[in-house]
Amino acid sequence: MNAPESPIGPPDASVNPRYAGIATFARLPRLEDVPRADIAVVGVPFDSGVSYRPGARFGPAHIREASRLLRPYNPAQDVEPFSQQQIADAGDISANPFNLTEAVQQIEAAAEQLSADGKRLLTLGGDHTIALPLLRVAARRHGPVAVLHFDAHLDTWDTYFGAPVTHGTPFRRASEEGLIDLTASTHVGIRGPLYSRDDLRDDERLGFAVISSVDIESEGLPRAVERMLARLGDRPVYLSIDIDVLDPAHAPGTGTPEAGGMTSRELLAMIRALRAVNLVGADVVEVAPAYDHAQLTAVAASHVAYEILSAMTPASSVHAG
Ligand code: MN
Ligand code: MN
Repeated sequence: MNAPESPIGPPDASVNPRYAGIATFARLPRLEDVPRADIAVVGVPFDSGVSYRPGARFGPAHIREASRLLRPYNPAQDVEPFSQQQIADAGDISANPFNLTEAVQQIEAAAEQLSADGKRLLTLGGDHTIALPLLRVAARRHGPVAVLHFDAHLDTWDTYFGAPVTHGTPFRRASEEGLIDLTASTHVGIRGPLYSRDDLRDDERLGFAVISSVDIESEGLPRAVERMLARLGDRPVYLSIDIDVLDPAHAPGTGTPEAGGMTSRELLAMIRALRAVNLVGADVVEVAPAYDHAQLTAVAASHVAYEILSAMTPASSVHAG
């Protein structure tokens, strides 16, 4: 455990109302205001890789706004993620909206710089294109990582309109580049129509196993958790969560919604089980506020991020032994 001497968490909500002030994630301090951090939350306001509805460039700000309500103690995991380690908001990575190739390079360079001292990153998207540069950085540090990917979609397609780098292709490119562990990578929550049967065959060849939305319905959540943990083992795990893994009833504010998805409760439960694995980095992507209602999607995404940060929290010495 590497908790700092005097961790700095969110300000006291009984003194500073949660709705006041400039929104950082969970009202955490900015990265430049702390001497060091174990984890940085960083936004990537970028959506030039989308195939359908645009708007995820506004995702980071929308998630931060909804995250004001998060509180310090997480009883579901019995941790205080903001006081048992130093977490800080690193602001947004600037990514060129008119040049996708340059944007991907900018994201990779910024993530590399942010994680140079070993801190872990929780990245708020942005569309799913951003997973490719983030996986390059993770694999450079840890070797091929087990990708745990929650999504309605496989995102292992080849090209759209001849373009190899889009939000539907990051995991195919990552597999081709040798960034992922072909024996442990897993999609969870896959559903909806595909282009053809070949999609699933290609996906398996690229190194992924599938725990589909239908599997969760027919086998139940405990079995899905068991399969997920068995597949990941003790490898370094990169967690990528496309918010469209949730049913549109739970997350309408996203670019490519599909009916029949997971509930927020199911997704949060699966993330809590990740306390048992070696999480080296994570992202939450595809939140598009223009299609959201009453912050439904942003509230879900902020709680997803909170459970990820909690799962990354070392066991408290208060509770040990
Ligand atoms: Mn998706
Ligand atoms: Mn996706």
